[in-house]
Amino acid sequence: MSSPNISDTNCPSCGAATPPLLKHSKLAVCAYCNSTLFIEDAQVASAGEKSVLTEIPSILRLGQQFQVGNWIFEPVGRIRYEYGASEGYWDEWWVQLSTGSTKWISNDEGEYVIENEVDFDGEVPAYEQLEIGASIQLLGKDLRVTEINHATCIGIEGQLPEIVNPGDTHRYAHLEGQNSELVTTEYEEDAIFVFEGVWLDPFEIKVA
Ligand SMILES: [Zn+2]
Repeated sequence: MSSPNISDTNCPSCGAATPPLLKHSKLAVCAYCNSTLFIEDAQVASAGEKSVLTEIPSILRLGQQFQVGNWIFEPVGRIRYEYGASEGYWDEWWVQLSTGSTKWISNDEGEYVIENEVDFDGEVPAYEQLEIGASIQLLGKDLRVTEINHATCIGIEGQLPEIVNPGDTHRYAHLEGQNSELVTTEYEEDAIFVFEGVWLDPFEIKVA
């Protein structure tokens, strides 16, 4: 793989070497002592928090390369979210492509979706206006609201491009079109993020 990594470095808590950190990493979890480390200017600082994820069935594994068609990627981190009031949970994997760029892949009970953040200036319906089953035009697609909920981070692993802490919550909605179109809107304090999703057939995901 091409290497946009910035450095090799050590965990301030236990001294173990961390895996090579990606240029865009802001946070890493030590694989040995599970301490959360903040990364800034290629330096790591211990955040003092510990995060341990219990394993749930997944094809993806941290540090293992996978191939889908001509596309090769390696999971470098993940965030586990619980949805609603303890209704279940799913993983968001941060993956690095062989080209060096990164993407997110969500894994919810055997379903895998590649998510691409859309740079979108148009109007996005406010969370409070959403209703299940309502029709919405977004990104030039005819969509229906299929889920309105909130998510709470319950664990992190590996390295991540953003500071996320267990307990952090955000609200979101899933919108689906008739031809497998998937759009997710994410509502943070003062911003709305829009993601386009593409289903990934788990049988197409092979160890590289
Ligand atoms: Zn450590």
